Amino acid sequence: MMSILQIVEVPNPVLRKAAKKVQSCNADLEKLAADMAETMYAAPGVGLAANQVNVLKQLVVIDVTPRDQPKNLLVLVNPSIVESDGLEDMEEGCLSLPEFRLIVGRAGRVKVQAKNLKGEDLELMAEGLLARALQHEIDHINGRLLLDYANPIRRELYLKKRRKLLKKR
Ligand code: ZN
Repeated sequence: MMSILQIVEVPNPVLRKAAKKVQSCNADLEKLAADMAETMYAAPGVGLAANQVNVLKQLVVIDVTPRDQPKNLLVLVNPSIVESDGLEDMEEGCLSLPEFRLIVGRAGRVKVQAKNLKGEDLELMAEGLLARALQHEIDHINGRLLLDYANPIRRELYLKKRRKLLKKR
């Protein structure tokens, strides 16, 4: 049984913590990955990091396939960017940052090393939307947010708005 998990939003401090490396790929990790994928598809979103469901593990799920095409889920354990190249501007959002959009410059191509759910090493080259999603999700497991790319005034305004909203709830 898969379940939809609750997505943590700013300013929850778990989003600011560096996630720990996964030491063993086991059934618990598989279950977490399946639940995260379910949660991402339901949101809907193109990527989700474990920090965003309140788990400090280096685990991310990504699927940038357009919704009218068959799913192509990517599950990465302990991912890191080993090479990057080029610079592209694109608008991004984040499931942990409601109503926040930002045009951010990121590498156009990246090479990522990670493990799959079986604990096997894998390496992938990506460009376009997939390269962007990889950089965004790997930021998450390092405690970094899309918000950090905004100028300080815009960042403060957004945080102020969020705090106000949360007080009202
Ligand atoms: Zn995000």
